[in-house]
Amino acid sequence: MKINTLLITLAIGLQSMIGFSQDYYLHCGSILDVQTGKEIKNATIVVSKNKITKISDGFVAKSNANDIEVDLKNKFILPGLIDLHVHIESEQNPKSYASKYTNNEADVAFEAARFAEITLLSGFTTVRDLGGTGVNIALRNAINKGIAKGPRIYTAGKSIASTGGHADPTNGSNRKLMGDPGPHEGVVNSPEDGVKAVRERYKEGADVIKITATGGVLSVAKSGKNPQFSIEEIKAITTTAKDYNMLTAAHAHGDEGMQRAILGGIKTIEHGTFMSEETMELMKKYDAYLVPTITAGKEVALKAEVEGFYPDIVVPKAKEVGPQIQSTFAKAYKKGVKIAFGTDAGVYDHGKNGKEFGYMVEAGMPALAAIQSATLTNAMLLGVSNEIGQIKPAFFADIIAVDENPLNNIKTLEQIQFVMKNGVIYKNL
Ligand SMILES: [Zn+2]
Repeated sequence: MKINTLLITLAIGLQSMIGFSQDYYLHCGSILDVQTGKEIKNATIVVSKNKITKISDGFVAKSNANDIEVDLKNKFILPGLIDLHVHIESEQNPKSYASKYTNNEADVAFEAARFAEITLLSGFTTVRDLGGTGVNIALRNAINKGIAKGPRIYTAGKSIASTGGHADPTNGSNRKLMGDPGPHEGVVNSPEDGVKAVRERYKEGADVIKITATGGVLSVAKSGKNPQFSIEEIKAITTTAKDYNMLTAAHAHGDEGMQRAILGGIKTIEHGTFMSEETMELMKKYDAYLVPTITAGKEVALKAEVEGFYPDIVVPKAKEVGPQIQSTFAKAYKKGVKIAFGTDAGVYDHGKNGKEFGYMVEAGMPALAAIQSATLTNAMLLGVSNEIGQIKPAFFADIIAVDENPLNNIKTLEQIQFVMKNGVIYKNL
């Protein structure tokens, strides 16, 4: 009996050793240390479950039969990229304006799941979703459960606007359908409303808060620049968000609304299109970050030339705002404004997020700084700088590979060859 028991115990022990440990040994030609820009040549990253456990010199052979060696000897390895500004639920096209009347939530969800997978396969293993209908919260949960494929999502749920402002969900409707949306729908008109809207988002499961501090390009409204919140409303929102440890973001093209957002305590300014030098100084003083979204600017300017792509009221705004974003970014960067990486994917086609790097470098930012903005800076802003944004032991195994050193050819980040997220390989060309 005793010997039998011992044998069974041994067998179970052995089985669990074989059954449960299936480590990856990634044989890497070069790893980019995003902190220093140095290359670590010929190294092995060991991944156990969802974490990086070890980085060893040379190509280390797997330690048991069940482990898997992955040949990335001709590749250049980086941590998974982070985009702080996407809209994972949608992708702009001429039919987008009608879709809110025709699509049910399930329709939105199926499309969103596809966009999430495309985003992940383009090397972005984490995104901050800055506004949709709330399907983005369900999608985040489905991805976390392993039901859907996609990046880690930090979502704003529904973004917060004022009546008639950018992101008022009933803009462009006939008056019968307009109704009078309130904080529950993400529309506020007082500090009290602002407090409630943040708490509503928290209750729904949002991770971050997004406000639309000025008019926007794609909304059916005249101005893309006017301020749309009072400073008191913004302060009520940011102080409430702080209670729930929620990072705050403000969409802003016009300078006045942007200043109010910064003074009101918003952490990231999205687009920043008509930012004055005075506002750049204010950004520095308040330790706010600019999320440039140059790709979206370029793409809306192009689409505005296509007859019928946008409603007539949108076209002049797209032509004015679009081309300005990159030059303002160049100025702000030069002046020492802190930059976080974000692209506004969804305003243009998902999966092209990597183009932003080329535009940043074109505007004068060194390639390493651009890569740092999409890794170190964004991880820090999301409050997870000890978990993602670097290839280090104990970090999540979010790892991508490209063909060349991106410091020599930044456009290689538009052609991702390998994607691992949370220890699972999703792409290996
Ligand atoms: Zn956006």
